[in-house]
Amino acid sequence: LPSKLPNVGTTIFTVMSRLAQDTGAINLSQGFPSFDCSPDLVALVEKYLRKGANQYAPMAGVPALREALAHKTLAAYGVSYDPETEITVTSGATEALYAAVAAVVRPGDEVLVFEPAYDSYVPAVELNGGSPVFVTLTPPDYLIDWEEVRSKVTDRTRLIMVNTPHNPTGRVWTTDDLNQLADIVQDKPIWVVSDEVYEHILFEGRTHHSLMTHPVLRERTFICGSFGKTFHITGWKIGYCLAPAGLTTEFRKVHQFLTFSTVTPMQYALADFLSVPEHYESLPAFYERKRNLFLDSISGSRFRFKPAEGSFFQILSYAGITDEPDYDLAIRLTKEIGIASVPVSVFYQQRNDYQLLRFCFAKDDELLLRAGERLSRL
Ligand code: PMP
Ligand code: GLN
Repeated sequence: LPSKLPNVGTTIFTVMSRLAQDTGAINLSQGFPSFDCSPDLVALVEKYLRKGANQYAPMAGVPALREALAHKTLAAYGVSYDPETEITVTSGATEALYAAVAAVVRPGDEVLVFEPAYDSYVPAVELNGGSPVFVTLTPPDYLIDWEEVRSKVTDRTRLIMVNTPHNPTGRVWTTDDLNQLADIVQDKPIWVVSDEVYEHILFEGRTHHSLMTHPVLRERTFICGSFGKTFHITGWKIGYCLAPAGLTTEFRKVHQFLTFSTVTPMQYALADFLSVPEHYESLPAFYERKRNLFLDSISGSRFRFKPAEGSFFQILSYAGITDEPDYDLAIRLTKEIGIASVPVSVFYQQRNDYQLLRFCFAKDDELLLRAGERLSRL
C-alpha cells in the first residue's frame, strides 16, 4: 500500500520510553510526570462515575467544563470566549491540533512551521494535502527572524503553527513576537494554530503571552490547550480548543467525526477542579523548583545549557563531550548509564544535529538527582 505518510515511523517518544522500560533506565525522555495527580481529582472522578455520568458527553464538551474554561481564560488572560460557540473540549491537545489543521488546510495550501517542531504538526498538515514550509530556529536562543517569516509568506500560505511555551526548547514568546505575527496575518486569509499546552509552566515570573491577548490574533487563532500538562494527567487525553465562533463552527465539523465527544466523568471532575485557581497557579513554582534541582545536579558536569524559560523540558548541549550523533548518544546513554532522553534532531525536518538532548524534569526529585549524578560522570 503506498503510504500517505511515507516519512513517518514510530514516534521518538514511544521508542525511547520503550527502551527505558526494557533497560530499566530513568526515563527523562517522553514528557509525562513520574508522580501521580491530586487525589482530590481522582475523588471527583469517582464521584461522577458513581453519579452515573457514564454516557456520551455533548459533542462540544460538558457545559460545566466549557464554562469553567471560559471563567479561567477570563481570569488568567482577561479575554472572553463564549462557552456555547467558541470553546470545544477535545481528546487531548493532539486532537485539537489535528482538527484545527483539518478545518482550514486544503490541498495545495502552505503551512508555516517553526522548527524544531512538535512531531504531530507536519503529519496533520500533510494528511490534509498541505505543504509545510519551515522556518528554522537555532540554539542557543531559538529566536524568530521575522524578516525570514515574511519572506516565506506567499499567496498560498493558509496557516501558521505556533507553540509557546515551546517543546522542546522551553522558549517563551514575547509581546514583540505577537505583534510581528499579527502584522503578518492582518488582512490576509491566514489562520493561526497556537499550541499552548504549557501555558501554566513558566519560570522566573515570566508571563504567558497567549495569542488570544492580541486582538488581531484573537480573531484568527485556534488556541489549543491540554489538561494533561497542567494537572499531571497525560493519560486522560483531555484538551480543548478556543477559537472565534466562525472558526469553531468549522472546527466542530471535524471534531464531531474524528471523535464526536470526549470521556464524560473526567470532564465533570475537571470542571470542579479547574474552578480553584490555586490548582494551576501553583505550577510555575512547582516546576521551577524541579528544573533548578535538575540543573543544580548537573552543574559540575560538562553539559552546557540555557535554563528553560517554560515547559517541563530542559535541553543540554553535549558539544565538547563527544562527537556522536545525538540519536546514537541518546540510545547509548539509555543503555550504558541508564538515562533516557530525546535527541533534539528528531524535531527538525532535515534532522539538523546541534548536539543537543532533551530531558523532561516532570519527575520525582529522587529520579532527577540520580540522573544528575550519572550525567555528571560523563
Ligand atoms: N503539543 C505539545 C507541544 C506537546 O508537548 C504535547 C504532548 N506532550 C501535545 C501537544 C499533546 O498533548 P495531549 O497529550 O493533550 O494530546
Ligand atoms: N508531548 C510529549 C513529549 O514531547 C509526548 C507525547 C507523546 O508521546 N505523544 O515528550
